[in-house]
Amino acid sequence: MADYSVKLLAKKPVTHNVNAYTVEKPAGFTYTPGQATDFSILKEPWTAEKRPFTFTSLPTADTLQFTIKSYTDHDGVTNALTHVQPGDEFEISDAWGAIEYKGEGVFLAGGAGITPFLAIFRDLYAKGQIGANQLFFSNRTTSDIILKEELEQILGDHFFNLISGENAEGYYHGRIDKDFLQKHVTHFDQPFYVCGPDAFTESILKALEELGAKADALVFEK
Ligand SMILES: Cc1cc2nc3c(=O)[nH]c(=O)nc-3n(C[C@H](O)[C@H](O)[C@H](O)COP(=O)(O)OP(=O)(O)OC[C@H]3O[C@@H](n4cnc5c(N)ncnc54)[C@H](O)[C@@H]3O)c2cc1C
Repeated sequence: MADYSVKLLAKKPVTHNVNAYTVEKPAGFTYTPGQATDFSILKEPWTAEKRPFTFTSLPTADTLQFTIKSYTDHDGVTNALTHVQPGDEFEISDAWGAIEYKGEGVFLAGGAGITPFLAIFRDLYAKGQIGANQLFFSNRTTSDIILKEELEQILGDHFFNLISGENAEGYYHGRIDKDFLQKHVTHFDQPFYVCGPDAFTESILKALEELGAKADALVFEK
């Protein structure tokens, strides 16, 4: 896999702990919506610290974008990213990953796990192909919801928010589990896209299989 040095062009807040980073796109660089890259900050002591992040830009755009949640409770890469400035350099690898669009279905995202789906939805919307895709998006609080207005615009009434950490009016309360899926998903013979923290992905995949979803219709990062 090749590596590329790219400059940060712009950094914009998305939520209280998520920023959008616009970076240069190397000539001829390609990826499909849902794919990720091995990313590092080209400034010591971070150069060797590779972390996976997903492209959230349209593949046709002139620049690349990442949408990254920062964990400021420890000194990792995402905390260091809160201090970078336009002009700073990153290294990225060729694109990789198993998440890609395989037809109309149900998308289940937890927190920053929305990023591959954001890329897929932006691409489908730009092509006028959003269809009947549904998104169930799980967050702890309403302030954690990434790009709610944009997702509402793209998905309309096919966008459902669950909040687990507070009682927020107008939102489903709780987590995505077997009961929730049974109640809110009309049929299990369709693609399911799952992305979130490991425990989120594992528990949802298990519930989906118990509810009759076929293994080859489950799309997730392996
Ligand atoms: C394929 C893929 C694509 C991804 N795409 C995105 C994306 O587009 N956007 C995005 O925001 N994230 C994405 N992630 C997640 C992202 O890679 C991680 O959040 C990131 O690697 C964390 O790096 P870090 O150095 O800040 O934390 P690390 O030090 O690597 O820690 C990893 C996790 O452990 C916990 N942790 C570790 N040490 C401590 C500590 N001392 N105190 C408290 N907590 C601790 C943190 O909660 C953190 O989530 C993706 C992950 C994968 C696998």
